[in-house]
Amino acid sequence: MIPPIARRFVAGESAAEALDHARTYNEDGVRMILNLLGEHYDDPVDARADVDAYKDLIDDIAGTDLDACVSVKPSQIGIDVSEDLFQEHYREIVAYAHERDQFVWCDMEDADTTDATLDVFEAVAEDYPWAVGQCIQSNLKRTREDLKRVVDVPGKIRIVKGAYDEDPEIAYKNKARVDEAYRADIEFLFEHRERGVAIGSHDPEMVSLATRLGDEFGTDYEVQMLMGVREDAQRDLAAQGVEVWQYAPYGDKWLSYFWRRVRERKENVLFAVRAVLGR
Ligand code: FAD
Repeated sequence: MIPPIARRFVAGESAAEALDHARTYNEDGVRMILNLLGEHYDDPVDARADVDAYKDLIDDIAGTDLDACVSVKPSQIGIDVSEDLFQEHYREIVAYAHERDQFVWCDMEDADTTDATLDVFEAVAEDYPWAVGQCIQSNLKRTREDLKRVVDVPGKIRIVKGAYDEDPEIAYKNKARVDEAYRADIEFLFEHRERGVAIGSHDPEMVSLATRLGDEFGTDYEVQMLMGVREDAQRDLAAQGVEVWQYAPYGDKWLSYFWRRVRERKENVLFAVRAVLGR
């Protein structure tokens, strides 16, 4: 069982719990992106098992009226085994989802997988227009060129600051510099796209920038935040008419995900402890 302190960030161990979680938040107008926890598999058997689990989850979502979709990680579905296996699995999941009118996101991981991930995004989005979305990280110095490359691809783009500790030769390390790149990338996307812009951030300044640019350019956009982080803001934005998606992980590999959230921001533990103690 997941202890209450971690339950704040993880929707449960089973798909059924994750779907219950989605239903609760949907009632407040917050849509749900579900991610089965799992990454860096070097055994194809593990990757296969998660592909099958995502197909089951897609069936589950399609059998409900939930506003929910899935987000997969490249290293969960085979990129550490081979790029071909990743591509094959990703296509299989997207084809399956598409037949059931469901949407698939792909997270972005370490910079040495960026090329392969973007290649697959481009190819799959051309075959399944507006049925997929790809995360892109503003902390990478290459990102502006990547955005120019994919700006006309018929898929959503989730722009994030970037969570991976990359080499200073290829990535901005200074927070102010990352924020500057992020701001500029958000502006670029609003200026160059009519739809499919997703802001994956808890940063109030960046969310305000997105709402302002949304009004200015008329671009269809959405805000995405993680489960357990600024949930009041998620509900408030949804109540104001902004399209808000919460990214909620679930599954039995919750412990390492929980520690990542804690390391990222120590206040997270205090919040969770207070919630458990009811103060
Ligand atoms: P930060 O720069 O961390 O903080 C800026 C401000 O936001 C803070 O000053 C505070 O006001 C507010 N804030 C931030 N965190 C909290 C908190 N816990 N509680 C209260 N206020 C807070 N990264 C990847 O590399 N690949 C991915 O595929 C990926 N997918 C993501 C999907 C989603 C939906 C989200 C939200 C993030 C994803 N990320 C991903 C992580 C992302 O790259 C950042 O590391 C992470 O979002 C932290 O940056 P930030 O913009 O939220 O705010």
